[in-house]
Amino acid sequence: MGLTVYSGREMQMTAKGSIFLTTRQALDAVCMDFRSYEPQIMLFSEVLRVISNGDAIIKRERGKEGRWVAARHGLKMVWFDGPALGEYVCRALNEHAPDLEIITSVCSRVFQTHAYTATDSATGLPGVCIETGMENFACQQCGNCCNSLDYRDALGAEDVAGWKRMGRRDILEHVQILDRNYPAKAYRIWVKPGTHELADRCPFLEHMPTENRWTCCIHDVKPSICRDYPVSRKHGMMTGCPGFNQK
Ligand code: SF4
Ligand code: SF4
Repeated sequence: MGLTVYSGREMQMTAKGSIFLTTRQALDAVCMDFRSYEPQIMLFSEVLRVISNGDAIIKRERGKEGRWVAARHGLKMVWFDGPALGEYVCRALNEHAPDLEIITSVCSRVFQTHAYTATDSATGLPGVCIETGMENFACQQCGNCCNSLDYRDALGAEDVAGWKRMGRRDILEHVQILDRNYPAKAYRIWVKPGTHELADRCPFLEHMPTENRWTCCIHDVKPSICRDYPVSRKHGMMTGCPGFNQK
């Protein structure tokens, strides 16, 4: 399970705690959400009902993870397991191009938050504003994200450039360049210095046993993948972050 759900580069922050997505970006974000976690079969079914205007016939089978689906009454039912059901709903979303009100309703369900139709003031493009819920986030320093999530190959070139500028050899010695020939280099963290062997965990994660807290020793210069986590309430809830449970 990864730290990222969708690319922040493709999104524009609008009012505090909300993100504007064009119609195209909203559809891409929904499909990316579907592929980012364990299959969300109840959600896939709900979205299919919404975009088919209630025409889709969806049936479960006891003991099996998936659904029988027919696009409408009279058509043959087809079985989809969890991931295949997600892909089927993504295809339906992209092929049937639902109107913006329906896409907004889908976003609200998928991202478990308030969403509303909006127009981008710069481009005039129609889209959806999605509240992130981040105003209700407070890090509990439980260490789950640092200890459990898979972010090792998500280091950005900007992070590496910044550490080079600052002369942070102590951090850089834990970074591996994955492909020297590719124009945009890829990096891996955290490796044991002088090797390509992954460290058991981030070398800058410190446990404070008396308080049962975990702290980051490079908090001010930590990688953007860490700084940006979680990107939304849904992202946090789906990846085991308890930072939204306190409100
Ligand atoms: S999982 Fe959430 S609450 Fe726990 S350390 Fe990470 S950001 Fe903080
Ligand atoms: S750099 Fe900091 S936030 Fe990122 S994994 Fe290490 S301890 Fe956690």
